[in-house]
Parts: sequence; structure tokens; C-alpha cells
Amino acid sequence: MNTNPESSQDLADSSFNPQLRVFFVMKDLFTSCSYVLIISHQGPDGDSIGSSIALARYLKKLSVKSHIIFPDPFPSYFDWLIQGEDFTVANLDSEKLSSLFDMADLICCLDFNHIYRCGEVLHSHIKKREIDTLVIDHHTYPEHFSTYEFIDDSASSTCELIYRLIQESKDLDLIDKSISEAIYTGLVTDTGSFKFSSTSSYTHQVASELMKTNFDHTQIQQRISDENSISRLHLLGYALQKIVVNSELSLAFLLLTDKEIKRFDFKKGDTEGFVNYALSIKGVEVAVFVREDESILKFSFRSKGKIKVNDFAKLYYNGGGHENAAGGSLQLMSQEKITQELIENFKKYCQGQ
Ligand code: 5GP
Ligand code: MN
Repeated sequence: MNTNPESSQDLADSSFNPQLRVFFVMKDLFTSCSYVLIISHQGPDGDSIGSSIALARYLKKLSVKSHIIFPDPFPSYFDWLIQGEDFTVANLDSEKLSSLFDMADLICCLDFNHIYRCGEVLHSHIKKREIDTLVIDHHTYPEHFSTYEFIDDSASSTCELIYRLIQESKDLDLIDKSISEAIYTGLVTDTGSFKFSSTSSYTHQVASELMKTNFDHTQIQQRISDENSISRLHLLGYALQKIVVNSELSLAFLLLTDKEIKRFDFKKGDTEGFVNYALSIKGVEVAVFVREDESILKFSFRSKGKIKVNDFAKLYYNGGGHENAAGGSLQLMSQEKITQELIENFKKYCQGQ
């Protein structure tokens, strides 16, 4: 879906380079607005939260009012980051949404480029309001649903793109400690602390510049990774024992049902990173983590070799993401069917390569 016929024309025109145009347009666009809505994807993570906060804080420096909307709650280990910001969680406070959308003169979608990723309720609000939309994102296969977009799938994170936007707008002097903390959080979480292949020399340069504002980077790492509850560690211990390896396919697989997760006093974000343990097994090239999430099955895919899990997720799991880290979802089904289909799909996918 493209909400603006002009933008699809622009994108079809080979002389149009959205990335070049967008830097000129973006700052003017922001400063011409009186109220910007910043929207994150469902299941907010460090990058979507960090980029939303960094953009809101940058806009404040430009004297532009903004408000962040998260489709659903974020993990409590990001509470420290969001402190002092104006935000709404859509599925907890849906009656507030109409007035927020009425006030807005620009909608910024951060860290997603398919409109379904913000959930049905926000999707319908965006469609209803015929105002400009701007997508800032780093995922592959964009849907091109917005009026403006700044998409670069070679970037480590949306936070890196927020930094670039501020840099190209010649506003680096506006980056203070609180903006740095937000951007740094997204860099760290989306790169696995600078270890994933998406980490570039530019990513390190950005981190280096941010660190000059003297925020406590050790404390950020601790808040994100070293404040586990004992129940989360017990859930991890249980999950690790459930990992199944298919050596023939170099595939590791982990499935957790709703019932299993709830036995461990589950809190949002508790299964974050579980898939990486499956990928860390010697000889495993692709890891899959499946979790029952209310009425759907949520899939996480990771790979360390050449297998593009974003393509696999797009083909069979209504999903997408990056070449080495992707996600998707399906309707609920039995564990046997999930496993059987996964093996079949994976074999088919590998044969087509
Ligand atoms: P995770 O497994 O950590 O939830 O997600 C891994 C990557 O895939 C992230 O960049 C995330 O934004 C993306 N992703 C997760 N779920 C989906 C989905 O359902 N659709 C799409 N297009 N991307 C997803
Ligand atoms: Mn991201």
C-alpha cells in the first residue's frame, strides 16, 4: 500500500534518489510542524525505543513538539531511558489515540517499513489521517507506504540513521548526553554490542562521537543485560534444555508454549536473546525460536552463514528483517505441525538457493 500516489511516482523515477532528497526535506519538514507523532513497531526493542526517544529529544531542541506512541508495552529494563518523555502505549490507552492523531501534522514511523508492524489499531489511524508520513528505517524490502522515507538497510540500526540525520542537518552540536544515551542504546542492542556483521566503521565512529558527551556506557550495558530476574534465568535454563539440533540441516530449534513461559512469571522481554544461544552451538548455521504469544506464534530467526533468514521469514512466516536476524508470525498450531512445517520449509528454501 502506498498512501501517497505522488511518492510512488517519485520512487518509480530512476532520477529520484530518496536518500539525497530526504536530508534536505527532513529538517524543513520537522521545523514546519507543530506536532509530530513518533510511532514504534510492535514489541518495542532497544533500537525502536532509543530512536524514538532520540528523535523526540532532537525535535525538542528544534522547538518542535512531539509524542511517542508504542503499539504495546516495552520491557521494564528500558524504563530508565524513557523517563521524562511524553509517550502513550496504544493498546493500554486506546481512547487517547484519536486526539493525538488529530493534533499531529507529521507521522514518523521508526524502525519498521511495513505498516502492519505497528499493529491494526495504529495502522487504521495512520490510514484515516491524510497527513505526511516519514519512515526512518534499516530493514530490507520496504513497502514504500509513506510520503517520505529515509531507509538504508546497510545501517546497523535506526539509531545510527537518527545520528546521520542530525549530522547531515548540521546539528551535531545539539547532541547532548540524553540524546547520546538513547542513540547508544539502539546501537548496542541492534548490533549485539558491536558484534553483528551490520556493525561498520561508521557505527564505531558514531559510538565514539557519542561517548564524548560523557554518559555512563557501562551503566547502559548493565541496565540492559545485567538486571535479570531469577525467574528469567530459570526460564532460560529451562529453554536451553529444550533446544533441538538437526545436524543434517545445521539447524537449531527452540519452542516455548504460553503455558511453559507462564510457569516462570514471564515479563515482557524475558525471552530476548534466547535465540542467540541456539545459534551459538558449533556447526549450527540457522537458529529458530518460536514462542506462543497470546493468539499467535512469534518466530525469531538468526543465521551466521550465508542463509538469508529475512528471505526465509518473508517466504513462509509473513515476516522479514535483516539477512542474519529476522522475525515473523503464524496462527497458532500444534508443536508437531510447527516442527514438521519448519523442516519442510527449510529444506525447500535451501533447495531453491
Ligand atoms: P526479533 O527476532 O528480535 O523479534 O526480530 C529480529 C529482526 O526481525 C528485527 O529487526 C525485527 O524488527 C524484525 N522482525 C521481527 N518480527 C518481524 C515481523 O513479523 N515482520 C517483519 N517484517 N520483521 C520482523
Ligand atoms: Mn532496528
